[in-house]
Amino acid sequence: MSSTSKEIEKFIGMFPPVTFANGDCHMIGSFGNVGIVETDEGLVVFDITTRQFRKRLFRAFRAITNKQIKYLVFSHGHFDHCFGFSPFLEEIKEKNWELPQIIAHEKLVDRFKRYKELDEYQNWINSMQFASIFKKEKRFTSTREILEPTIIIKGNENYTFTFGNLKFEIYHDMGETDDSIWMFVPEKSVLFTGDLIISSFPNVGNPYKVQRYPKHWAVAMEKMMEKNAEYLVPGHGPLIEGKERIKDVLSITAEVMHFVHDEVVERLNEGKWFEQIYHEMLEIYPEKFKKHYILRPVYGSYQYAIHAVYRLYHGWYNTGNPTDLFPAKSTEIAKEFLKINSERQYLERAMKLYEEGKLQLALHILDVIIKGSNSENSDNLINVYKLKLKILKKKARQETSFISFNIFNNGANEIKDILENLSKRKV
Ligand SMILES: [Zn+2]
Repeated sequence: MSSTSKEIEKFIGMFPPVTFANGDCHMIGSFGNVGIVETDEGLVVFDITTRQFRKRLFRAFRAITNKQIKYLVFSHGHFDHCFGFSPFLEEIKEKNWELPQIIAHEKLVDRFKRYKELDEYQNWINSMQFASIFKKEKRFTSTREILEPTIIIKGNENYTFTFGNLKFEIYHDMGETDDSIWMFVPEKSVLFTGDLIISSFPNVGNPYKVQRYPKHWAVAMEKMMEKNAEYLVPGHGPLIEGKERIKDVLSITAEVMHFVHDEVVERLNEGKWFEQIYHEMLEIYPEKFKKHYILRPVYGSYQYAIHAVYRLYHGWYNTGNPTDLFPAKSTEIAKEFLKINSERQYLERAMKLYEEGKLQLALHILDVIIKGSNSENSDNLINVYKLKLKILKKKARQETSFISFNIFNNGANEIKDILENLSKRKV
């Protein structure tokens, strides 16, 4: 993987469990983080990781405490937060314990229904998004087995309960998802944020996924800031400690979400189309965001966030050019271009652009040949694919965002297969 693999290891919880708040709270890094609050009456657990990490989590969990889980809170319905429960269910059966209360937002129930309906599709898109870490396993994000919530939070309601002499406050705010809830435990001064904090740039505008909510995200950050917490258990990445540090993390995240939202909205009001908005936004991205450690594009990125805001308010006709309303097939268009200039000439031009470091433009030119070629001239086509492979590998290496890395890397792997087939055909 690229130079960011250390960052990704942290993102997926490859660090030892930590105990804090006088020994009463724990955090286990386990793809999505798992938060544990110990009381005399049992445990309140915040998230329960992905199915793949269930055994690893169970071992780490039971090395810390033997107490029963009385409440399990789902921060949101993503596969890395609520599917590692099976060893805990087996234990409950074995020991004849009561099932815990499962707390979630009502939108999570809708989400689980949707996941069942779209099970194959979810697996397909997730196999691309997570290709570099779940290479072999098929159906790794299947959501067929679920734990149904027993305490369902409705709309914008808060939910507060007292357990083991501690108060637990749960709030709903949209951000990465529409079903997200976060928890504050005042006596321990701990915030459990779920994926509203992922120790890097918010995963807003994920290219594979449904709409996300930058403005709501900012509001969530501001509500969390009011709690003045000493500890913050993020959805991903290490524990964040210290009131000042936490305030800084929350306020800069709020600020960047307001920024990207308000600047895109301003440009929409000026009657600009996506391309113009996007490139203007890249130019005005402030240094203080670029430099802030909590906004590093480890998973998502600022570019994705621009898409998120645009998509929130705009339909699919996003160029303002009537040519694009009912476009011809891109392969047909490419064939026409190849009638004007030969494949050879396109390849020469792409090579020139590559040498000049204009990788993106080179890709566009190579795609004319790839899409328009009748494949008879396989020597030329092999060279075309080889150059595209070189460019995609280079782009993957330069990428810090996990999702972008996988997109480039998956493309490179597909071309390797194509090249193998092409050279077989030659023999
Ligand atoms: Zn997550």
